[in-house]
Amino acid sequence: MEIKAIRGMNDILPDDMPKWHFVEQTARKIFRLYGFSELRSPILERTEVFFRGIGDDTDVVEKQMYTFTDKSGTAVALRPEATASVLRSVIEHGLLNREPIQKLYSIGPMFRYERPQKGRYRQFHQINIERLGEDGPLCDAETLHMAYALATSLGLAGVRMEVNSLGCDDCRQQFKTALKEFLREKEEKLCTDCARRKNTNPLRVLDCKVVSCKQAVEGAPSIEDFLCEACRVHYHEVLAALDALGVPYEKNPRLVRGLDYYTRTTFELTAEGLGSQNAVAGGGRYDHLIQTLGGPDVTGIGFAFGMERLIMLLPEQVQDNRGCFVVAQGNATVQLTALTLLKALRSVQIPAEAVFGKSFKAQMRKAGKSGYPLCVILGEEEIAQSMVTIKNLQDSSQVQVDMAGFVEKVRSLLDK
Ligand code: AMP
Repeated sequence: MEIKAIRGMNDILPDDMPKWHFVEQTARKIFRLYGFSELRSPILERTEVFFRGIGDDTDVVEKQMYTFTDKSGTAVALRPEATASVLRSVIEHGLLNREPIQKLYSIGPMFRYERPQKGRYRQFHQINIERLGEDGPLCDAETLHMAYALATSLGLAGVRMEVNSLGCDDCRQQFKTALKEFLREKEEKLCTDCARRKNTNPLRVLDCKVVSCKQAVEGAPSIEDFLCEACRVHYHEVLAALDALGVPYEKNPRLVRGLDYYTRTTFELTAEGLGSQNAVAGGGRYDHLIQTLGGPDVTGIGFAFGMERLIMLLPEQVQDNRGCFVVAQGNATVQLTALTLLKALRSVQIPAEAVFGKSFKAQMRKAGKSGYPLCVILGEEEIAQSMVTIKNLQDSSQVQVDMAGFVEKVRSLLDK
């Protein structure tokens, strides 16, 4: 019986790879412009990293984590997001002791046991950044600007940024109290999760996608009215800096995001063309997370882009087909010479391919399908004269050239 991939976990096939490379290369280029360096942390972590990092009353930790006990009895989890894992790494290696400001990015797979649908998978890929040790609204604005720059550099249409401030512990506490008060009247409209969360984590009710919960929170108090003076100033300065940078945004006081660790600035980016799962990126400030994970009292801000959703929005990428096929017909000497011609082409960075163990006709067919503009043909006659035939696969014209100078000739034809 055929074995299939696990539900919600996708193979990424060669035809799609140019898009993945384009996204990765664009991200690396943008991050380089802003002075970020790459950090790669393991896919598997102690479960505790995420319990402590993300908060145990979030959907991600409560319901969506792939957890198991390994052979030594350690509770481990496939990472559902990057931040907690990257911060664990930063703390473990004392990176902040060496350099108290860190600007990091990572790219890789994440795992969440969610209900798979278009744009929502159980293994998906994220591009993340974490910016540690800098404070103040300008840092936030520049970070949001970098996210916007990445989205627009990828050519996404209709990119929208929603921004909110979740305040600090003080103002959020007062807001939570007011929200709990408000939700007490709405109990019968809330889903079972929210009925519980309204006491433990009422902010999450604002984020719930269940229609009756959405209705229930209409008219709920707005966090903006509860921001303390310092948080209010911070928020306004973030918005002013976004204006100065020309980043279009909308304020959304309901934007609380799914993870518990955010403080002050939070944001989300959406793009046109995705249907209901239209968030391409989200993030925010997390001023206490590093300490919660056992590190120094250093603040941070970060964001994550979902790569599958970016890929879905991209037009087909133009493949770079510069290269040459080599076709050989004849005895062992011809075959061996063909192998050395391939080596000679590659040694000057010209992509070169042949297929072995196939008839001349099959080789020519493959050359025609290769997308390369040129094909070098080698037979016993050519060997006897120390020549090769170069065929233009687009217009079928042919030239015979001296074997000693064939690489130069191929190069000049490719560069024409
Ligand atoms: P989050 O880590 O939940 O803040 O998500 C950040 C981004 O990752 C979202 O805006 C999505 O683009 C993407 N994302 C989150 N969960 C999934 C998923 N299950 N499948 C595909 N993309 C996802």
